[in-house]
Amino acid sequence: MCRETGAQHCQAADINTGTGEQKTGGNVFADIIIDIKHEKLDKIFQYRIPDRMENELKPGMEVIVPFGNGNRPTKGYVTGISDRCSYDLSKVKEITEISRDSVEIEAKLIALAAWMKENYGGTMIQALKTVLPIKQKENARVKKYLRLLLDEETGKARLDYYLEKNQRARARLMAALLDDPVLEYDLAVKKLHITLPVIRALEEQGVLALESERVYRNPVRGGSRETPDITFTPEQQQAAERFRREYREGKRYTYLLHGVTGSGKTEVYIDMIRTVVQMGKQAIVLIPEIALTYQTVMRFYRHFGQRVSIMNSRLSAGERYDQMMRAKAGEIDVMIGPRSALFTPFPDLGLIVIDEEHEPTYKSEQVPRYHARETAVMRAELEGAGVVLGSATPSLEAMYRARKGEYVLLTMKSRSRMQSMARVHTVDLRAELKDGNRSILSRQLQEMMEERLSRREQIMLFLNRRGYSGFVSCRECGYAVKCPHCDVSLSVHRGGKMVCHYCGYEQPKVTCCPECGSPYIGEFRAGTQQIEDMVKKRFPGAAVLRMDMDTTRQKDAHEKILAAFANGEADILVGTQMIVKGHDFPNVTLVGVLAADMSLYTDDYRSGERTFQLLTQAAGRAGRGERSGDVVIQTYDPAHYAIEAAAAQDYEMFYQQEIAYREMMGYPPAENLTAVHAACEDEELLEKGCHFLKEYVLRIKGQAAVQVIGPASPGIDKIRDIYRRVIYLKAPEYDTLVKIKDRMEQYIEINSGFDKIWIQFDFNPM
Ligand code: ADP
Ligand code: ZN
Ligand code: ZN
Repeated sequence: MCRETGAQHCQAADINTGTGEQKTGGNVFADIIIDIKHEKLDKIFQYRIPDRMENELKPGMEVIVPFGNGNRPTKGYVTGISDRCSYDLSKVKEITEISRDSVEIEAKLIALAAWMKENYGGTMIQALKTVLPIKQKENARVKKYLRLLLDEETGKARLDYYLEKNQRARARLMAALLDDPVLEYDLAVKKLHITLPVIRALEEQGVLALESERVYRNPVRGGSRETPDITFTPEQQQAAERFRREYREGKRYTYLLHGVTGSGKTEVYIDMIRTVVQMGKQAIVLIPEIALTYQTVMRFYRHFGQRVSIMNSRLSAGERYDQMMRAKAGEIDVMIGPRSALFTPFPDLGLIVIDEEHEPTYKSEQVPRYHARETAVMRAELEGAGVVLGSATPSLEAMYRARKGEYVLLTMKSRSRMQSMARVHTVDLRAELKDGNRSILSRQLQEMMEERLSRREQIMLFLNRRGYSGFVSCRECGYAVKCPHCDVSLSVHRGGKMVCHYCGYEQPKVTCCPECGSPYIGEFRAGTQQIEDMVKKRFPGAAVLRMDMDTTRQKDAHEKILAAFANGEADILVGTQMIVKGHDFPNVTLVGVLAADMSLYTDDYRSGERTFQLLTQAAGRAGRGERSGDVVIQTYDPAHYAIEAAAAQDYEMFYQQEIAYREMMGYPPAENLTAVHAACEDEELLEKGCHFLKEYVLRIKGQAAVQVIGPASPGIDKIRDIYRRVIYLKAPEYDTLVKIKDRMEQYIEINSGFDKIWIQFDFNPM
């Protein structure tokens, strides 16, 4: 064990279990993690707590400690406090000081970081950086005010006096103060052209006071606080009431609110948050960034006013910091934001809401590759808070847990404003082709579009771009080329090979359909731009807007397009999945899904689930207003269960089929899957490393039910001259995979052969 002090390093686990540990009477030691980017220093170090800090020092604090041979003053975080030390006491160093102006970290967030490190892999530093998104303090912006100290009558007399004396600047300022007794300093200086000597003079005369206030930049600007008068539907009532009752009884469950699109889930969240806020607690609301629109924020603002704040990627580091400070200081009750808002340091967190919980953006792409859903449940457990997951199309994971009784299921089956669900029509594109229609718009869709245009109703055309990466399918029979060993489609790689991303199987590219012999087989490629052009040609009188990656690059472009469409500036909106996310356009009565299969044959076991979700969301866009809506789903594979279930708007039917498939294949949530990503500049070394890793896992797994697959191609074999491979581990129990990960991490650490190989774990990848 690491006993060569100086830099007293040792793994966290050794502190408690290590042999020869010494218990000391009054001496208390702190476990400290040094904030250095170097991964090899990602260890827990022990330091002695000086007497003067004994009562003050708490886990989560940032401290300065002497580090290394030169005793360089170095920043660190306290991750724990204990009365024992595993090292030679005479060599243990002492903490120098507590850093005062840092954001103090809540101890619970550190515990959460430790849990994340354990369950998702990576280092403690990486986990800490995730839960403490802001470390650098930016200069606080100070706002100055001028406050009138005189009553109105005296003020008016003063004004007359200045006018009489022809002191025009003083008169201008006095008049302004009589209008508004608290003036912003900047405003006074710029708009009224007042100079500092004038202000000082009036200050000396006791007319006004110059005050400054540290202001938090607040991204939520005011608006109407009027709340629309709505009466809950019986289903909304039931969901909200059950939550309220159980919450007040002290029960802290994880609820899955399964409500069809338009069932009024947001209103229910707001009611639940009210319950929690009334008890003096705070709430976090996670919303996918793309759905975090002004309208959404305003719905919360109307209920909670200035006590709502938001986090999003458009805020500056300073603004984010301010929001964290406001949250910590108890100035806000509700934080709305994407995944990272989960770590808002509220003093008494009462509830975490995750809207659209099935969205893949809730899984982090960076180490630790945590999932916000599981992490929220863990954070809630640590803080004694509740969790509400909401979706019209719950993830298989969430529904699986709800069925097992881990989550409480709340269901809302009808739309809130008496609108009926849209009518769904499925069009078989193979039949269209047989009848000689080569257009991407089926005849039925064209007819319905004409009809809507003549009635001046709006249309959304949705192209799922996820399948863009080039699966190969037959335009004649719909056959998609699949791997013989896995239930996934092959992807075309440059050089003409078709490759399975799960097992590495490859074969030459086909030139005719193996199923029907048709030469019309190839990569399915069609972009939104082509569709926009085509629609304009087909319907010359219609105004068309397009929303995709290209048209939304600029700041706020996304909101502008949506606003233009909402204002009726266009008849047709063509777009990618961006357009199906939760937007409410009452005048849209027709939604066309141009190629429903495009998300089906991606090389991912979740493709059926993604397809069902996207189609259901798209269908949910039609008929949100007074008129009912129609949806046309165009597909080459109308019999696929994901498409059939979406057409029938039948979640249960989809779930039953999908879970049976996952169980059969051993995919999550039935079983658990870890992707061990390996990358290295040296292809041969990588190959060898992966081989040894696999051998090692096979050796240590013993009788455990673990399947080791690969090493396989991760899809892209080389990025910027770094070669990549992946090994998949499958096991019924998540904990088995965590244990294997721990052993692998140790193995990698002590074998210098892995020094040049970069390894990452991804649990239940998405
Ligand atoms: P979801 O999130 O389930 O799709 P929303 O909460 O966005 O649904 O509600 C859809 C629309 O219906 C919103 O405009 C909302 O204000 C409105 N709404 C929600 N509940 C009711 C209700 N009980 N009565 C009338 N309108 C409602
Ligand atoms: Zn074919
Ligand atoms: Zn395969």
